[in-house]
Formats: sequence, structure tokens, C-alpha cells
Amino acid sequence: MNDRYLEFTHSSFGKSLAAMIGLPTPPRLKRADGPWESQPLDGKAVLVGSSRGATLVGPLLSALSGAGATLRIVPEHSGLAPLKEAAAALRITVHGNPADGAGEPRNHAVVFDASGLSSPAQLRELYDFVQPVLRGIAANGRILLLSRAPESLQDVAAKTASTALRGFIRSLGKEVGKNGTTANLIEVPTGADEAIDPVLRFFLTPHSAYVTGQVLPLAAPQTRGVALPGSLEGKIALVTGAARGIGASIAETLAREGAKVIGMDHPSAEGGLGETMAKIGGVGLALDVTAPDAATRIASEVGKNFGGLDIVVHNAGITRDKMLRNMPAHFWDMVLNINLGAILKINEGLLKEGFRDGARVVCISSIGGIGGNAGQTNYGATKAGVIGYVDAMASTFARRGGAINAVAPGFIETAMTAAMPFGPREVGRRINSLSQGGLPQDIAEAVTFFASPAASAVNGRTLRVCGQNFFGQ
Ligand code: NAP
Repeated sequence: MNDRYLEFTHSSFGKSLAAMIGLPTPPRLKRADGPWESQPLDGKAVLVGSSRGATLVGPLLSALSGAGATLRIVPEHSGLAPLKEAAAALRITVHGNPADGAGEPRNHAVVFDASGLSSPAQLRELYDFVQPVLRGIAANGRILLLSRAPESLQDVAAKTASTALRGFIRSLGKEVGKNGTTANLIEVPTGADEAIDPVLRFFLTPHSAYVTGQVLPLAAPQTRGVALPGSLEGKIALVTGAARGIGASIAETLAREGAKVIGMDHPSAEGGLGETMAKIGGVGLALDVTAPDAATRIASEVGKNFGGLDIVVHNAGITRDKMLRNMPAHFWDMVLNINLGAILKINEGLLKEGFRDGARVVCISSIGGIGGNAGQTNYGATKAGVIGYVDAMASTFARRGGAINAVAPGFIETAMTAAMPFGPREVGRRINSLSQGGLPQDIAEAVTFFASPAASAVNGRTLRVCGQNFFGQ
């Protein structure tokens, strides 16, 4: 569904009217218009900074330079020493940050390595670096912090400083969203430094346009890999609920990166499923996710034609909203069975037969499972359950060389949200740092990244793709 308000405020009349009476203007987000690129930051200026004692600068500079970025530094910054040493050792050229209005392109991104922070007092280095350069970030820019996860730190002062970054980034996300800029924090455990490269390629590019205010902790990567053109070539992917909406977009995006997609949907949606699959050269499987034999049917279908599954996306989901006091039991059962029970049963079956080694699973949660919504006790329970489930299953998948993660969409423009009454729909769209709903493509980009070996350092996590919806953390 079209966001008419956004379109209006970008028309010439709407722009003047919004300026005259002070109406907010949601930014037009720049989204990816094609597959992953080998040098996605080619021609982009990235301003890099570090705290004293920073330990991630080497892999950070290598990753940025490998992705084609023009690297800039603030020459007089106090935490510069590790950065300069790493640049010299790696023979990577860095340029001074030009003064505003010097005729040079603005910075596409500001990246700060905060891994060396050892006390709250040292947070001042973060302020000193980021505060003066905020105005020099281009529209649809990126702010990214790297840190060591607080849970991995023993020292009280260091742990406090590292945790402080979470509040900093969540607050900054709410400040910078007005021009489409995002702000995120990646927590890198010791030994996972090389995982920075693929993760940067997601967070610093238009593939993450609707991801902001988020903290993503990494684990030690299982394999090496970055998101490159054709990275999913030869992979077999199953997407449930693929006939329309978010599922159709996930199927299209996985196919865009080279995967062979089996789209599964309820038999009643066979027509839509056929159309989506025809567009991407995929295969349709008309099957209810709650069918008692769903896992064996999938395994036999896939086994016959493709050998096994590398990627499974559990996207099928429904709402049956009612205040709990009025909720009939069949509303409860249906939502619980489709949104949660089916995921557990299908995975259990596929773990016996169907998954290939290294299989990557992505489940669709929701901010409804994080912030909760009146009238959605059933839905909220399932979507929170998904978050617990991926956490609980991470080690099972890791033992097989794979991973399981979740993506939690916020308000996304689909048939599900188009069916909402006007008032709640309009509020739902605006209550986030980017003042607009996301598109199915935004979820599909995050899912496709998680489904790829490029996200091999992410396991058991839930990433919110919600424009930093104001509900929940
Ligand atoms: P949608 O437009 O309603 O699409 C869901 C698809 O799943 C439909 O094709 C539906 O088929 C299919 N499905 C439903 N029950 C099924 C079953 N038992 N077996 C197989 N397929 C089944 O929904 P969407 O908005 O794209 O949402 C996709 C996922 O994102 C859901 O898990 C949803 O909870 C989650 N999500 C969405 C939003 C949002 O703003 N849209 C926000 C947060 C989370 P039928 O046509 O037969 O029903």
C-alpha cells in the first residue's frame, strides 16, 4: 500500500506546505536496487575513528578498503594512534576529513571503533569524535559503532562503558533518522574480528535501509564469506508463506542472489504462489505448514529434486486479533499452531531428514512479540516464542555448521497492515525513527543476509527491522 503522506510531503506543494506549517517530512529511503556488489562502497567516503586502545581498527580498515570506500580520518582526534598505526601497517591510504563546504562529497558513513573503551570517562572520546561530524553526514548515511560485548568483559569499568554504547546508539538513532540516516552497534567478541567485513557490507549499504537503533552481537564465525554477487548460487531455499507480501519478497531476493527457491504456501494461495514462482524460476509447494506430515512432505519433495535444503525461511504467519477476554479458543490455537508450533515441528523433522550440513534458518518474529499490542496476546506470544526458540536452537544448528536467527519486522506495508483501520495504521507507520512503514524488501534483505554464509558470525539472534519502532527496546 502507498504511503500517501510521504508522497505528498515530497511533492512541490506538499513540501512547501510542510515547511510552512511545520509538518514532519518522512525521508525517502534509498534502498538496494540490485544484487550484492563486490565493492558496495565504491565512490563513498567513510569517516573512521577509534578510541584509545582500540583493537578492531586493522580488520575495520581492511574491510572498508576492500569494499571500495574512500577512507577519511579526523587528524587531531585523541584516539587516532591505533588507527594511524593500522593504516600504515596495512598500507591503506587515509585522507583528512574535509571541512564542511569544502566542495568535497559529504561522508556516507561514520564508523567508530569503540573496542578500546576501558572506563565511562573514556566515553568522552566517542563524544569528541562523533559530535562535530554529525552535520557532515550525507542523507541516507550510516553511523556504525564497533565494540566488545559487555558480557565478554570482566572489568567493571570496561563493562559499564561498553553497555553505555547501547543507550548511546539507541538515542542517536532517534536523532538522525530525519534524513534517512541509520545508527547501529555491532558487538564483536575476541576472535571474531574477521566477521566485521561481511557485517559492514550489510549495515553500511542500502540493503539495511530500515534497520536503525539496533545492537547486533556477533559470535565466532563458522566459515568465512562475504556477500558477493552470486553468493547463493547452488543453494536450495525453502520459504513458507511465499505467495505474497513479505514471503514473496524474500523468495525474490534469495533468487536475486542466486538461490533456487521452493516457495511453500497454503493450498488456497496456490494461484499467487504460482505467479511468484514463475517470476523467479522457483518451484511451488502447496502445503499447509500445520499439516501433520509437513516436514516429511518437504523432505521428500526436496530430496527427490534437489538433494537437501541449505536455507529455510519460516515466514508464514497470521493474526487473529481480539482482546483476551473475548478471544475464542480457535483464534488462540490457530495463531499458536501456524506462527510457532509449525516452525518447531518442521525444523524437528528437517533436522532428521532434509537439512544439508551448514543449513541456515531464519524465522520471522515481530515487534508485536517485543513491545506487545492490546488484542494480540496470541500473536505476541508466538512472536516472542520465536525469539526464545532461535536462541535455544543456536547450538544445535552450530554443531551442524549452520545457524538459526530471527528477523523482527516492525510496521511493513503489506496486505496484513493495509487491512488495519486508518487511525492505527497511520500511527503504526509513523512511530519510528524513520517516520514511515518499511517495505517487504527491507525484511527480505535482512533475511537474505542472514541466510548467507556472510552472516556466519550471527547465530541465535533476533534483528529488528522496524525503523527503530518506539515500542519495546
Ligand atoms: P501476509 O501478506 O498475510 O502473507 C502471509 C502468507 O502466509 C500468505 O500467503 C498466507 O497464505 C501464508 N500462510 C498463512 N497461513 C499458512 C499456512 N497455514 N500454511 C502455509 N502458508 C500460510 O503476511 P505478511 O504481512 O507478508 O507477513 C509475513 C510474516 O511477517 C508473518 O509471519 C507476519 O507475522 C510477519 N510480520 C508482518 C508484519 C507486517 O507489518 N506485515 C509485521 C511483523 C511481522 P493465505 O493467503 O492462504 O493466508
